[in-house]
Amino acid sequence: MAEKYVGLKSCPSCKELQNSIREECTNCGHDFTKVLTVSDNKQRHGCLTAWLIFMIIGNSISALIYLIDPGMVQVDASEGTFLLLAFLGAFNVMCAIALLQWKRWGFYGFCGTAVISCFINVSLGLGIVSVIFALIAVGALFGMLNIGQERKAWPKLE
Ligand SMILES: [Zn+2]
Repeated sequence: MAEKYVGLKSCPSCKELQNSIREECTNCGHDFTKVLTVSDNKQRHGCLTAWLIFMIIGNSISALIYLIDPGMVQVDASEGTFLLLAFLGAFNVMCAIALLQWKRWGFYGFCGTAVISCFINVSLGLGIVSVIFALIAVGALFGMLNIGQERKAWPKLE
């Protein structure tokens, strides 16, 4: 009875729920005793990897510019605002790294910084264009997490 019931696990191959005492999937025959390597289980779409690396580099550069030479941005903002923007850039880098490590919070982090930077940009008078860019960036990220069948990243995020 109860002591025999161990629980359910989802098959890594077909996602069917299986009794966790089983050694192979009743649906697709996947062998649960085989240890999946990261490359088997979590292949990332090349586009997603490229996008995340692009985000890391882009946000690192902009964060450095905000910190070192805000004059380059040609926006009349206070030092505190630039510090905040630099912090948001650094946080975006952390989110991209988290996504590279399959952490779902990385995506929500991007959404959060996009919303905050929209408010900042609007308050700086940068207006609707920067808001649209932020929305496109988050939308593109979400799209990339959901393209590719086997390699679709979103369901694999933790
Ligand atoms: Zn299966």
